[in-house]
Amino acid sequence: SAKKTATTTARVFCIANQKGGVGKTTTAVNLAAALAEHDKRVLLVDLDPQGNATMGSGIDKRSLSTTLYQVLIGETDIATARVRSEAGGYDVLPANRELAGAELDLVELEAREKQLKTALAEVSNSYDFVLIDCPPTLSLLTLNGLTAAHGVIIPMQCEYFALEGLSDLVNTIKRVHANINPDLAIIGLLRVMFDPRVTLQQQVSAQLENHFGDKVFSTLIPRNVRLAEAPSYGLPGVVFDKASKGAQAYLSFGAEMITRVDSLF
Ligand code: ADP
Ligand code: MG
Repeated sequence: SAKKTATTTARVFCIANQKGGVGKTTTAVNLAAALAEHDKRVLLVDLDPQGNATMGSGIDKRSLSTTLYQVLIGETDIATARVRSEAGGYDVLPANRELAGAELDLVELEAREKQLKTALAEVSNSYDFVLIDCPPTLSLLTLNGLTAAHGVIIPMQCEYFALEGLSDLVNTIKRVHANINPDLAIIGLLRVMFDPRVTLQQQVSAQLENHFGDKVFSTLIPRNVRLAEAPSYGLPGVVFDKASKGAQAYLSFGAEMITRVDSLF
């Protein structure tokens, strides 16, 4: 299918949840690969000093001299710092431990929460989608992500305390929307690591649908070991084992995102 023309402006989405280990990075990497598979031009921004999205895209975080860190402190631009993920078919703005220091450096700057947004503006015609893999904190890094984004995708496990944890993030999104970024919206909640045999998960899933209605994506991402194995090969799960249930689910999610974004923007 035809790619969009170079005049398209990228739609920017944060993958966020203030809990760790809930599937943010797995979702960011696999959604990037799925959108690329659907012929979209994608930039994946690794906003987590752990650099898991970088490594999971087949890029060695230890070998990098230029990363998101230099972009955030204004030393370089995204066109210089980005790296191609040959495995995934998308570009990566990579990160490593150096990014943890950005918190302190940013405090010195006046437009500290707008650094990423400003940097992205220069490349926004080159992409259809920009996906930002957020760290599990509501830090200045995450604030840069939320300030740059049109929307937030919230991956979550259907566990007992899932809804409770969500309220802090939803409040933060509301505050950023009110004070800094009027474009910001919750695009949707994505149920991940789902096991339909667990009654509690079915109940929480139904609760989410009741509470959030069509904000809940209809695609369910199953718990699937192939998704967990893929990063150690430096490959998105979608590429590592395309036939696996997890990969197929993320490909469906990519299609659902494209439809949802077309209807919203
Ligand atoms: P986060 O970025 O929110 O910390 P990750 O995406 O790194 O979370 O996921 C945490 C762990 O769970 C990782 O080991 C990952 O491989 C695993 N994982 C994520 N999603 C799935 C899934 N759908 N099925 C099986 N394992 C998963
Ligand atoms: Mg992560």
